[in-house]
Amino acid sequence: MKHRILATDKVSTAGLTPFEDSQFEVTSIDDSSSAEFAEALSQVDGLIVRSATKVTSEMLEGAGQLKAIGRAGVGVDNVDIPAASAKGIAVFNAPGGNTNAAAELTVGLMLSTARNIPAANASLLAGKWDRATFRGVELRGKTLGLIGAGRIGTEVGMRCLAFGMNVIVYDPYLTQTRISEIQSPVTDLDNVLESADFISIHVPMSDETRGLIGSEALSKMKDTAFLINASRGGVVDEGALVQALKEGTIAGAALDVYVNEPLQSDSPLREAPNLVLTPHLGAATHEAQLGVATEVAEKIRALLLEGAKGAALNAADLD
Ligand code: NAD
Repeated sequence: MKHRILATDKVSTAGLTPFEDSQFEVTSIDDSSSAEFAEALSQVDGLIVRSATKVTSEMLEGAGQLKAIGRAGVGVDNVDIPAASAKGIAVFNAPGGNTNAAAELTVGLMLSTARNIPAANASLLAGKWDRATFRGVELRGKTLGLIGAGRIGTEVGMRCLAFGMNVIVYDPYLTQTRISEIQSPVTDLDNVLESADFISIHVPMSDETRGLIGSEALSKMKDTAFLINASRGGVVDEGALVQALKEGTIAGAALDVYVNEPLQSDSPLREAPNLVLTPHLGAATHEAQLGVATEVAEKIRALLLEGAKGAALNAADLD
């Protein structure tokens, strides 16, 4: 009897290589609100979603054989984990699959804002040849302050060292082993805010990090400094950032994530000066989408074939 897997939300089926042997049968239905999806869900052992499908307790009522849910990505706020645990369903995510993609986008945002690349491109496309307005600054010799040095922050730091930057870190949860591994001084938040030329945020969204960079934190930054946020919207207070950019108390910023996504068409962020905006593209690479699909598929395969629950986010709540 084959193990049946249902993939939705345009999960990269090319990444589902762990299911390629004869023990598995994969069905892909992108519209999880369709009757076809509900019918298929009632017969599968594994479900793989991205962020669009909300895996609710009602949905799980119709999934009598389901043993594993895989979120092809990091955030699992679209999966009702307590409801899955109550039914003995393991929930997996793919925390590492998009680390490189997010780190590379972050460095791209740093260069974009430091060298005015998007604004210069828009100016040129508008028919101008304006070199004076877009004189930028270099990364070499500057100090990068990382707020959060987990998977992505560490990768950003390594890339910035290669640019000849000095890297300092604020992350109160690093173990002594990690501190000795990352080879960059770990310091307090105020020191990062006051001394860094570029500040890049890589923390999870939590009650502690919501609004972490508000008007008080922004006022401690140098007026020549740049702020990059490709972590989660809401870590930076958007109103305070707009004000800091308008008043020139920081030099520039770049955001990939927003309090409300999609960003509203009338958001003041769209009108703020020296601000580069991208529509949550951190994990939007072919490689990352393959990577996260493979990562959850490996975990679901191990669960279905070997009963391996250790990697489940709700492992402690499963029988
Ligand atoms: P991670 O868990 O590996 O690292 C997070 C780090 O933040 C940890 O080292 C933790 O100790 C630290 N931290 C927690 N609270 C902190 C606080 N109050 N102050 C300072 N540091 C704190 O996570 P990651 O995989 O590196 O992801 C970082 C962020 O990037 C997450 O919010 C994730 O959702 C986001 N992300 C965004 C995209 C995107 O598309 N833009 C893609 C992937 C991940």
